[in-house]
Amino acid sequence: MVYVLPAFPPEVPLKSYIQAIPELINCCNYVNDVLSFYKEEIVGEQANFVTNMANCHRISKIDALRRLAEDTAADALRAMKIVSGHPGAYKAAQAFVQGYIVFHLASPRYKLTELFKYQIE
Ligand SMILES: [Mg+2]
Repeated sequence: MVYVLPAFPPEVPLKSYIQAIPELINCCNYVNDVLSFYKEEIVGEQANFVTNMANCHRISKIDALRRLAEDTAADALRAMKIVSGHPGAYKAAQAFVQGYIVFHLASPRYKLTELFKYQIE
């Protein structure tokens, strides 16, 4: 919630994006759960959403990660569909989601360059 609301500039009417807020909050939380999983897994951390999801559904961690990634993408697509009637809201939501993902890919904290041998520029 803290990150999502400031994504929309004041000139974008609240009514154009308020219904997308729950999807964007889910997206925000779960993007972090998906993209922080690698750094947690390599140090054996068990207290994370993917491990809990795997244990609750009695599936492997990689299947839980895949399912969470798919659900997160679906949340993002639903949010974009909801705001599609207002160009300003659409542009702000798109920039937010893309920027949030790029932040995780570019941050050394998540060690994702160990998985993806490319440079974020
Ligand atoms: Mg995490």
